[in-house]
Amino acid sequence: MKIQAAVLRAGDQPYSIESLDLAGPGPGEVLVRIVGAGMCHTDMVPRAAEFAALAPLPMVTGHEGAGVVEAIGPGVCGIAVGDHVVLSFDSCGTCASCRGGHPAYCDTFLPRNLSGRSLDGSSPATDAAGKPVGARWFGQSSFATRAIATPRNAVVVDRSLPLELLGPLGCGVQTGAGSVLLVLRVHAGSSIAVYGAGAVGLSAVMAARVAGATTIVAVDLHPARLELARQLGATHTIDGKAPDVAQQILALSGGGLDYAFDTTGIPAVIAGAVTALRPLGVCGLVGVRGADLVLPPLSLELGRTLVGILEGDSVPQRFIPQLIALWQQGRFPFDRLIGKFPLAEIDEAERASLAGEVVKPVLLPGS
Ligand SMILES: [Zn+2]
Ligand SMILES: [Zn+2]
Repeated sequence: MKIQAAVLRAGDQPYSIESLDLAGPGPGEVLVRIVGAGMCHTDMVPRAAEFAALAPLPMVTGHEGAGVVEAIGPGVCGIAVGDHVVLSFDSCGTCASCRGGHPAYCDTFLPRNLSGRSLDGSSPATDAAGKPVGARWFGQSSFATRAIATPRNAVVVDRSLPLELLGPLGCGVQTGAGSVLLVLRVHAGSSIAVYGAGAVGLSAVMAARVAGATTIVAVDLHPARLELARQLGATHTIDGKAPDVAQQILALSGGGLDYAFDTTGIPAVIAGAVTALRPLGVCGLVGVRGADLVLPPLSLELGRTLVGILEGDSVPQRFIPQLIALWQQGRFPFDRLIGKFPLAEIDEAERASLAGEVVKPVLLPGS
């Protein structure tokens, strides 16, 4: 069938909106009509030359899709035509990590999610010239009117929910919230600093409030994001440009925080975050780090832990419904992060995201 998709053809070029041919769902696959798709910084990874071998262009990115199941392939069970689904990352279901309830650490996470291809290297989409275009980014490629997914990365949700808002739950929001609730296990009365108040960091701030943390420090460069962090639960905000961020945190916390959560990937910020932990404190890291991490002596010796996290270590089928329930109760207002754009305005969405003007763009392929 014909679909409209935002195709990334070169790392330094705008997206091109093209009509592609998409094959119907094969064995174990489902076809989803995309209603909304969040934009995450990972969608910009294929723009970087160093990822060309793993994630070859041309490709359709987008990995926070939400939509309606239109067709199912042979052998699919547990999901039906007409179901409303939130698309998340893909995993195999049979490796040790998947069987242990940690699908984000699936043995085949990288080829399934970051190659833009199926595991056998194929893609269900071709362009007007008949050339293949990667269309399995995170098992979905949702910057398009339709996408192929699987029951493992499609979470069925109630049909009464506003589907166009739910896509970001599939990656950025679950990454921030899962890191706080499932990995760090922030507890009532505890303290945490969140470095970077983008979609992942602000989701962490909201989750820390849900968990009952009584000191929640947000650190960011954008005043507007710090203001939003305050509205979403931060008890303190710090300008990330300040030369003494760690000292400010040590002073306001009386000697260090229980938890830190870094979304910046900047080694100096991470080193400062560890410095501002109390003994036995835990620092979680997400995002792609661009350089080696160097820590001062005695950073970890006092029982401190540094842990790298993917996708909040969540099981999407279990965690996304929990986040929706929290949202329905008004305790997790992730919709406040969202700015909507028609799919044709994807370049403007990317620019606004990079400029810090919109925390979480959501592309609407149907408008
Ligand atoms: Zn697996
Ligand atoms: Zn993502």
